[in-house]
Amino acid sequence: MASTASATLLDQNVTKFVSRTHKILINGKWVAAASGKTFSTYNPATGEVLSQISEGDKEDINLAVKAARAAFETGPWSKITTSERGRMIWKLADLIEKHLEEFAQLESLDNGKPLSVARVADVPLAADLFRYMAGWATKIEGNTIPISSGGGKTQFLAYTVREPVGVVGQIIPWNFPLLMAAWKLGPALATGCTIVLKPAEQTPLTALLLGEMIQEAGIPDGVVNIVPGYGETAGAALAGHPDVDKVAFTGSTEVGKLILKAAAGNLKKVSLELGGKSPNIVLQDADVEAAIPGAASAIFFNHGQCCCAGSRLFVEHEIFDKVVEGVAKVAKNIHVAPGMDPSSDMGPLVSEEQLNRVCGYLESGISEGAKAVTGGSREGNKGYFVKPTVLVNTNDKMKVVREEIFGPVVTVIPFRNVEEIAAQANNSNYGLAAGIWTRDIKKAHRLASLLRAGTVWINCYNVFDAALPFGGYKESGWGREMGHEVLEQYTEVKAVCTPIS
Ligand code: NAP
Ligand code: MG
Repeated sequence: MASTASATLLDQNVTKFVSRTHKILINGKWVAAASGKTFSTYNPATGEVLSQISEGDKEDINLAVKAARAAFETGPWSKITTSERGRMIWKLADLIEKHLEEFAQLESLDNGKPLSVARVADVPLAADLFRYMAGWATKIEGNTIPISSGGGKTQFLAYTVREPVGVVGQIIPWNFPLLMAAWKLGPALATGCTIVLKPAEQTPLTALLLGEMIQEAGIPDGVVNIVPGYGETAGAALAGHPDVDKVAFTGSTEVGKLILKAAAGNLKKVSLELGGKSPNIVLQDADVEAAIPGAASAIFFNHGQCCCAGSRLFVEHEIFDKVVEGVAKVAKNIHVAPGMDPSSDMGPLVSEEQLNRVCGYLESGISEGAKAVTGGSREGNKGYFVKPTVLVNTNDKMKVVREEIFGPVVTVIPFRNVEEIAAQANNSNYGLAAGIWTRDIKKAHRLASLLRAGTVWINCYNVFDAALPFGGYKESGWGREMGHEVLEQYTEVKAVCTPIS
């Protein structure tokens, strides 16, 4: 449980940062919300208020979109060279690294995750993403295309150009606040778009600090506008805005469908990175010593608050008991404590709402006959901690097996027939990620080919890289983040054609 070990000493800049009333970044200026309203962000380890944030709403979104439009059409951003653009994005990565500790502490305070994790995962991965995208700024090319029109009598020169899609609205969740901002901003900046970003109401702080770094990196005013606020107001206004050319969203499948409807008004382009209920499959010939910690970290990393969490663990029946016992042992040894406590392996869930959601799933599963081998309930009564939980005796009809829990809860399901496991794994509306653990290379690749998922990890899990595309099949989303694939989501293709004979 939440130990009494002393918390890490707060960086002075972090103390100052959280004590400020934060403003909205529009056209390079930090301004109060048009309504004058503010909202609170909380420390989920204590439930106490952390900071006050200006509450952006429709009017602020309108102003931000106007600034982004002007920056796109006529501002210096539209005229600078791609090399200069790349250099600014690279500088932003350098600044993130320079301020790594501040970012990591803010992330831990606002989201609840262990500081040790934010230091080695969230912040460095965000810097990497910007560096990778900085390189792309100079490499967004078209093609020259031989065409046969004119029947040989007239010769044509035809080529394509990839142009920025324009003003982009980006709406991000709270599970990796800084990293999700990076995944969204990086490709939009590399392709020359301008942006209005709405962070999650639970975790706006690192996006706001990033806003300051964006200014310091020399990215011109109006290119990145950051409007914290609520989803139903600021988020909905952005998704439905008639002068936004594209909306990129990460979050729940439910809200993803609302985004799609809101986008229909002006047929803005849409990319969606949504939920998952990812299968993680352990075959009996797997290296069990690797598969057990691998399966545990597939679900317990970031407290299970990962869209790709390996939440359905399928284990071949010969080794089922051994794997269940092993994963439960790992779960019991996870030290659940505030993220700022240096001994913490797992912090609180992000909010009271998530605590209630996850506990609701636990109660529903257990009342329907699932058995908690370990965990199964809230941890303590202060902050939003949940015990890492391993459930067995589940069936396909249970909500805990079908729905995304987004908490540290894994259902372990035995199987007998390798031929049928892909169909069972695919029996979900989601298709974000999957894991396979086996020493048999043929089986591994055959299974990989059968799984309907945007990412398949073999003998590993949660390996992310800025160069590797990530996204979902089925109701897990549209389009891909990262890799060169993401650049397509932020560009329009123009075909140019002229007779030359
Ligand atoms: P969510 O509502 O989908 O939130 C994601 C983002 O969308 C937030 O910035 C949110 O703003 C915004 N939003 C909410 N309603 C909106 C609307 N009508 N129009 C435009 N934007 C809107 O997710 P949540 O409520 O925080 O979490 C609920 C569940 O979603 C979780 O339990 C989990 O299953 C899933 N989830 C998935 C991911 C993922 O990475 N795929 C991430 C987070 C959550 P607010 O911050 O004001 O809500
Ligand atoms: Mg918070």
